[in-house]
Amino acid sequence: MHGLVDFHCHLDLYPDHAALIAACEQAQVHTLTVTTTPRAWPENQKLVSGKKYVRAALGLHPQLVAERQAELSLWEEYLPQARYVGEVGLDGGPRYYRSLDRQKVVFEHVLRKSAAAGGKILTVHSVRSATAVLDMIEKFWAADRGAIVLHWFTGTAAEARRAVELGCYFSINAMMLENDRHLKAVQSLPTNRLLTETDGPFTKVSGRTARPSDVGETANKLAIVRGVEANVMVGIIHDNLRCLVTAC
Ligand code: MN
Repeated sequence: MHGLVDFHCHLDLYPDHAALIAACEQAQVHTLTVTTTPRAWPENQKLVSGKKYVRAALGLHPQLVAERQAELSLWEEYLPQARYVGEVGLDGGPRYYRSLDRQKVVFEHVLRKSAAAGGKILTVHSVRSATAVLDMIEKFWAADRGAIVLHWFTGTAAEARRAVELGCYFSINAMMLENDRHLKAVQSLPTNRLLTETDGPFTKVSGRTARPSDVGETANKLAIVRGVEANVMVGIIHDNLRCLVTAC
């Protein structure tokens, strides 16, 4: 099935990076491959250049800020080359909590610089930090300066409502639909803000590492959750992507 969307995956973390890009092109899966460090940007950008379906994003992952905060200047240097920004955001989980203040410094800079540049589309991590992420979006971002997609958002229903009011989109993966609380939050989201993702290779499908084309199954499950036909849901997600990239 063509026209599928994987709006957050890490193709450079698979052993067959280049082959996977070719497979996404072949299967016509609109794929956003994020990076976790600005140092990875040149190679990632080179591999997707001229591709029709695969795009790369320039990131500085919150889980790496403790060791790589100094690469923020490199991130800024590459920003003019990047339409997509990510993976960025905050991680308030037990392993990364200690760097949260530094993560906030980095994320504020990312939001401010991206808003100033204009037209950027961000894919944002918000593990155990949904309120802080939304506070920062409210403070340092302007909805008319680009777009924000909350990746694997697991905030409360109230936080989800707030994110919707701030103009955010949501990329939904299969694992979110397996958790009752997250499923409820997903059910409450407006249809026109939904995208799909795998976050591969960090998720599994039937015991193997997820690959971008697996978003077909996520779209099917999302269709059931939302009570529409599977092909209708695929069309909605495709339209949402078009809306996102054309700022409609
Ligand atoms: Mn990720």
